[in-house]
Amino acid sequence: NDSNPHVVNLDDKDKLLGGLLTSGFDEASCISRMQSHLYRKASPHKPSPYLISKLRSYEEIHRRCGPNSRSYRKSMIKIEHSMNKGVATMCKYLIWTSANGLGNQMIDLVATFLYAILTDRVLLLKFGKDKHGLFCEPFLNSTWVLPEKSLFWDEKHIETYQILLEKDKATNSTEDLPSVLFINLQHTRTDPEKYFHCDHSQDILQKIPLLIFQSDQYFVPSLFMNPFFKPEITKMFPEKDIVFHQLGRYLFHPSNEAWELISKYYQAHLAKADERIGIQIRVFSPATTPQQAIMDLVLSCTLKHKILPEVDLQNSASSGRKKQRVKAVLVASLHREYGDNLRAMYLKKQTVSGEVIQVYQPSHEEHQKSCDNKHNMKAWIDMYLLSLSDKLVTTSLSTFGYVAQGLGNLKPWLLYRLIDNNTSFPSCEHDFSSEPCYHVPPKHYCNGNLIKKFVYSFPNLRECKDFSFGVKMV
Ligand code: GDP
Repeated sequence: NDSNPHVVNLDDKDKLLGGLLTSGFDEASCISRMQSHLYRKASPHKPSPYLISKLRSYEEIHRRCGPNSRSYRKSMIKIEHSMNKGVATMCKYLIWTSANGLGNQMIDLVATFLYAILTDRVLLLKFGKDKHGLFCEPFLNSTWVLPEKSLFWDEKHIETYQILLEKDKATNSTEDLPSVLFINLQHTRTDPEKYFHCDHSQDILQKIPLLIFQSDQYFVPSLFMNPFFKPEITKMFPEKDIVFHQLGRYLFHPSNEAWELISKYYQAHLAKADERIGIQIRVFSPATTPQQAIMDLVLSCTLKHKILPEVDLQNSASSGRKKQRVKAVLVASLHREYGDNLRAMYLKKQTVSGEVIQVYQPSHEEHQKSCDNKHNMKAWIDMYLLSLSDKLVTTSLSTFGYVAQGLGNLKPWLLYRLIDNNTSFPSCEHDFSSEPCYHVPPKHYCNGNLIKKFVYSFPNLRECKDFSFGVKMV
């Protein structure tokens, strides 16, 4: 019933991803939001009613407290005037700052958004020029970008979480809390424990109106380790292995510019194929890893698991047969040789299965670049196109692959992470979920004791297949 706006017809329900997205957006300003469902398989995971209600309340807080609101101006003035002493404000904020490549940034952004929901904070992003025009605004009638005029683009002179922890340990007192705190969650494995997952730290943090986060990690499992957040997360996500899948689809909509490139590429090369295979080849140490070793690894994995067919060594390629099944292969890599080699292999010979293999590689940037808008756009396009695959092969430990698998709800085949010419391993393993791996989980319980075996203490966390020190929720 189109005449009655309160009756949601089936089509709208699909468009809004089962209620994950809210209606009311100007459709022309973000075409992908309303069209993505035409390109993706519908997710078998319906958002829980509790997640939907939390998202709607978050949107309301963001609208009421976000940039351009009166509450924003009032709260920010208060915070700015009392940076080093505590202050109570109407609204609380969480500013996200970027670190590392776009994949790291996107998985971290999802974790940060979940933290914002759990703590009733408004999420604001320090999006530099390198990320302009990649994504649509996700929150109705507001923006998630930190206003240019904000003082908090500069983190100098802002107290750090590490110093606060030391002070707290020395004095056992949380008086004199600042109103702004910088938290670096960019763990390395040798850093001292941050105790971010502990109630005690969260009690302190919730008194501070503005937090500035820097991380490059998918720290969702550490929130799940917290006894206050755990029941909330469980209620929002009765299936715990789809947090990224749902929040990622909620947050990341390609801008109109990105969507034009994605949808045109998809229509031109991938739409008509009978099956779409995504292969993400990330080379972490190009200087020490021979190209041939990587190519052998990719072929060994895809042929063994029948993702791609063997070539028929006797017969050259011919176009004699009628109606052959077509598999389109999307290769994402910084290096053009991988797409070229695979394409050449299937151009010259028939396949034993009789399938036609078409190989496409949208870009080959050669090197990772930072602070480069066009480069990030290509990365976003590659991640999105990979996420539209029917089957996905990714490189172990690559967050670029995590974004594609999470958005696509795909359990990838994880290519062994080659750093030299070593070949004594299974070429790839099938992952058990589409969740990103949290590479550096806490090493200590809140009482300071070492966590010896993660999975015994936290039954909903499991070691990642691609990195045994890492964990993900199951
Ligand atoms: P990770 O380092 O593999 O975990 O992924 P990140 O996305 O965090 O960092 C790698 C960065 O290198 C990407 O963001 C891109 O800028 C670039 N890059 C790596 N692989 C590719 C690729 O296949 N395609 C494109 N376009 N860029 C890539």
